Amino acid sequence: MSDSSTSKTDFIREIIAADLAAGKHETTITRFPPEPNGYLHIGHAKAICLNFGIALENAASGARCHLRFDDTNPEKEEVEYVESIKEDVAWLGFQWGDGLYYASDYFEFFHDCAVDLIRKGLAYVDEQSSEEIKATRGNLVQPGVESPYRNRSVEENLELFAKMRAGGFPEGKAVLRAKIDMASPNVVMRDPVIYRVLHSTHHNTGDAWCIYPMYDFAHPLEDAKEHITHSLCTLEFEIHRPFYDWVIENCPVPAKPRQIEFARLNLTYTVMSKRKLLQLVKEGHVAGWDDPRMPTLSGLRRRGVPAAAIRNFCERIGITKFNGVTDVALLEFEIRDWLNREAPRRMAVLDPVKLVLTNYEEDRSEEVEVPNNPEKPETGARRVALSRELWIEREDFMEDPPKKFFRLFPGGHVRLRGGYIIRCTGVEKDAEGRVEKILCEYLPDTIGKDAPEGVVCKAAIHWVSARHGRKAAVRLYDRLFSEPNPDAAEGGFLSVIHSDSLKEVEAWVEPALAEMEPEDFCQFERIGYFVADRRDHRKGGPLVFNRTVALRDSWSKK
Ligand code: ATP
Ligand code: MG
Repeated sequence: MSDSSTSKTDFIREIIAADLAAGKHETTITRFPPEPNGYLHIGHAKAICLNFGIALENAASGARCHLRFDDTNPEKEEVEYVESIKEDVAWLGFQWGDGLYYASDYFEFFHDCAVDLIRKGLAYVDEQSSEEIKATRGNLVQPGVESPYRNRSVEENLELFAKMRAGGFPEGKAVLRAKIDMASPNVVMRDPVIYRVLHSTHHNTGDAWCIYPMYDFAHPLEDAKEHITHSLCTLEFEIHRPFYDWVIENCPVPAKPRQIEFARLNLTYTVMSKRKLLQLVKEGHVAGWDDPRMPTLSGLRRRGVPAAAIRNFCERIGITKFNGVTDVALLEFEIRDWLNREAPRRMAVLDPVKLVLTNYEEDRSEEVEVPNNPEKPETGARRVALSRELWIEREDFMEDPPKKFFRLFPGGHVRLRGGYIIRCTGVEKDAEGRVEKILCEYLPDTIGKDAPEGVVCKAAIHWVSARHGRKAAVRLYDRLFSEPNPDAAEGGFLSVIHSDSLKEVEAWVEPALAEMEPEDFCQFERIGYFVADRRDHRKGGPLVFNRTVALRDSWSKK
């Protein structure tokens, strides 16, 4: 990928380089292991860029990154999520090749490992209720209490576990627990549950199983099965690491992966928990998982955020061991930075008022040249039709302007972008006194030339020819929450949903915008960056544009 550099470094990359240098592994194998119970979000992008990035950087030694669906919980997982995750990882720019795995393909292996633990006297079937198990776990200052079922014989445990598998227990009546240490200072090590009964249909294995492994037991086994060398996860798993290592130590595994933790991404003005994102969708606070205000990858994509800007953002924030909150303005900076270089410029008027060039003949029109992107002169210019009646932004005219107002006002001059200098001669108003028409005269022979002697013209405004322009629906998206930390809001995150996070306006746009395909992006000159909506826009019409981000950050002033 063009934007990936080889100079990236952080504590994880240092460990990986040292392991390779020491000959600990022949190559590096990482994985990105989403649970298919929701859509991927910008936090997942951090983990994707890390895992797939490391594989790309170490490609010379044969490194790779697996995409593994951690689908061991039949209750919340759906095929819709599996498909969306694949689409989003590919869109972000990463390839898993033939490294596509499903943890549910290892159910037999997990089961064999559990039987092996029982045989070694390291696991037992507990028939206490989940409440009893919870109540006897102890806490940070008190040790746990051993289960009355803890010292069953190996034979009895084998028999009972077989009965669990065969459907002989209703849910909640039996679990398999690792037999470790109820007095361990680490609560995670106090005989954690490793299997439970769930009479649910699984999206991949159907009704073949009615016992399912717990995450902490399954995850190290998945990693080992795939010969993962470095299993990178977020900091909250740090206290689970001793159990990860215990599973690897005590089960018949083909490899010994190493877990390393890093800080998860949190963003201001954003909720990242899948549960909360699901709630926003289910309760209709947004229009779906890909609503352009969502922090999901599909939402960001529909908003017009380039995948490259997300990769650049992930590179900029780096990888550390310290939990913190990143300012969403940093993401917006990366989006503007990329789009400023790449987006073609187009003209659109979002709050139109009519302007009439009274000295321009009724049936005349001409084409003027407007540069496509001053940041990229090689993209040249396009020809845009100009005529007697134009649309301009209402805010570009003031009847009674303050001193430093350099746009249109009675008696003042301004340049039409790419066109003539014009002079305002008067206005027409409607019954309520609102300006309905701005009357101007154009100064012939001023296209591409300096203002004539005695004419002060300090600004250029964008415009759309009324005769040639097209109507478009423009959706002005803003941040979804009005508070920097919605999770901490007194009334809950729903209470700080930003009421103005979507405004839809009817705009006039230059004809070139009718040629855009869904997902084509551009800058509306002087306004912001926009993308043709991937669901609702069609080349030729209807024309529907989403605002990705305004030209400037309007929040930092507040
Ligand atoms: P939940 O706990 O809400 O189900 P999760 O964040 O654990 O969500 P997974 O699908 O299990 O979701 O995540 C897949 C991978 O993405 C994990 O390795 C996880 O550590 C990583 N990940 C998830 N959220 C973030 C985040 N905010 N920042 C960095 N990595 C993340
Ligand atoms: Mg998870």
